[in-house]
Amino acid sequence: MEQFDLIVIGSGPGGYVGAIRAAQLGLKTAVVEKDKTYGGTCLNVGCIPSKALLESSEHYQAAIHDLSAHGVKLSKVELDLKTMQARKDQVVKQNTDGIAFLFKKNKITPFKGLGKILAAGKVEVTAEDGSKQTLETKNIVIATGSVPVELPFLKYDEKRIVSNTGALALADVPRTMVVVGGGVIGLELGSVWQRLGSQVTVIEYADRLGGPMDQDCMKVLKKSLEREGMKFMMSTKVTASKVVGDGVEVTYEALADGKVATEKTDVVLVATGRKPFSTGLGLDELGVAKDKQGRIVTDKHYKTNVPGIYAIGDVITGPMLAHKAEDEGVAIAEILAGRAGHVNYETVPGIIYTHPEIASVGITEEQAKEQGIAINVGKFPFLANGRARAKGYSEGFVKIIADQKTDRLLGAHMVGAGVSELIHEVVVCMEFGGSSEDLARSFHAHPTLSEAVREAALAVEKRARQM
Ligand SMILES: Cc1cc2nc3c(=O)[nH]c(=O)nc-3n(C[C@H](O)[C@H](O)[C@H](O)COP(=O)(O)OP(=O)(O)OC[C@H]3O[C@@H](n4cnc5c(N)ncnc54)[C@H](O)[C@@H]3O)c2cc1C
Repeated sequence: MEQFDLIVIGSGPGGYVGAIRAAQLGLKTAVVEKDKTYGGTCLNVGCIPSKALLESSEHYQAAIHDLSAHGVKLSKVELDLKTMQARKDQVVKQNTDGIAFLFKKNKITPFKGLGKILAAGKVEVTAEDGSKQTLETKNIVIATGSVPVELPFLKYDEKRIVSNTGALALADVPRTMVVVGGGVIGLELGSVWQRLGSQVTVIEYADRLGGPMDQDCMKVLKKSLEREGMKFMMSTKVTASKVVGDGVEVTYEALADGKVATEKTDVVLVATGRKPFSTGLGLDELGVAKDKQGRIVTDKHYKTNVPGIYAIGDVITGPMLAHKAEDEGVAIAEILAGRAGHVNYETVPGIIYTHPEIASVGITEEQAKEQGIAINVGKFPFLANGRARAKGYSEGFVKIIADQKTDRLLGAHMVGAGVSELIHEVVVCMEFGGSSEDLARSFHAHPTLSEAVREAALAVEKRARQM
């Protein structure tokens, strides 16, 4: 029987990137994937399709609202949702096909089917037609990702009550949409449908959006989304739902006074979070330890409590982000190849791809206070940035957080157009243990949005020049 060095279960960003790195390092590698296409949540129903629709809907909105200010007059703007969705499907296909190509190029053997671990070193693959085969390997990496949490009173039918999967595939623009949960997924997908013409209402249990993210940034985003017509019901919990005709009646309760009300809507998007997925892997029989949230427990080297079995990505602890999963994939491949694989969790960026975007890395002012860390903060508005004004998107700011004693960079929080790209210079600088002085003394070409990062770094020591 063919013997592998490594079998990765799951072909999402954790699994496929880990497999490629392992193959590059000379390990004989196989990947087992239960879905029809490779790429996991990220490529099929997550990062990539959501960004394709965000891009298209942003063009639509710009055509309606923004182009006339540039002297570009359009007599009629029409939405062709079928083409928009077909384009998104094509973008997804290009990406998932790309993974199949990369597996071939790197001589990784793919197996299509449900992977079950029979014992350390043995993986059973059950294909769609029910046929089974057992594979042998020295090491197993579980990269089976996560799935949306389903609320008992909001069961998905993916037409009227939808998860991210249904929300990315709607064939018509709903007149109204209730988004349950004001986190990243709710705000991004809510934005898409709001821009395309839905009246979107976000119902959020907490009194703040975006969980632990910088609340100055969130305020700018919320105000901007409200200006576009999105409604927010904060400190409110959804308690029941009923499908009525071709819509859904949602019952909700205000936490402050217990007042109960109902609202009829065309579509409900439930975006209350995701949970780790490890069903069908046979982990209980093997005694692989999980925590209370169902995440597989590993040590710092991604080792579970069963020798030869490792786990990475959304199925273990940490932020559920594609780049976090990817870097863990690289680290475990390097560890298994006898190298020093490592992930620096202090520099994982987090982004909300709305308009304006929010991008964040490191600690917030709030967290510094909680942890008793003395900081200096520099802030610079895009309103004072020439390029932002020329573009016509001058909302938002860059905030840099540095240690008061050493000036070491501890975090950056940005809100504005294009900040999803700007954040990475801070990530790299933090990775090198850099200071605000390092950012402030580095050239930033003029006129660029990046100059706002430099100015914010200069503002840490109150020497910004452009305001
Ligand atoms: C709408 C949405 C938007 C998102 N946007 C972003 C974003 O912009 N940026 C970002 O960083 N993150 C984003 N994410 C999160 C990101 O998609 C996940 O963090 C990432 O996909 C996790 O990667 P993973 O490899 O751990 O798991 P996954 O991508 O979930 O992949 C797991 C794979 O394992 C397979 N599998 C599971 N069990 C088995 C089994 N027993 N046998 C065989 N195969 C199995 C699954 O079919 C799946 O293909 C988004 C998520 C959603 C839902």
